[in-house]
Amino acid sequence: VVASEDIGSRATRTRIFDIEGTPVKCFEMTDGTRLWLCECAAFQERAGRHLEGFCVNTAVAIMRWIEDGSIELR
Ligand SMILES: [Zn+2]
Repeated sequence: VVASEDIGSRATRTRIFDIEGTPVKCFEMTDGTRLWLCECAAFQERAGRHLEGFCVNTAVAIMRWIEDGSIELR
């Protein structure tokens, strides 16, 4: 399980999206990478295998952010 408190302390910026009641967090790290965290069961299960996981909620959050125009894709 990813320790979000630890990641949060290393992130330069944190954004929280409310995706239909499920909080999705995006941490922007000092090296410019982004790490998405979701509290749903599907994400927790995937995050246990690969540190960085994705789920329906994170996918929606990323799409919203892109539509926002506030994300810069590298
Ligand atoms: Zn999720």
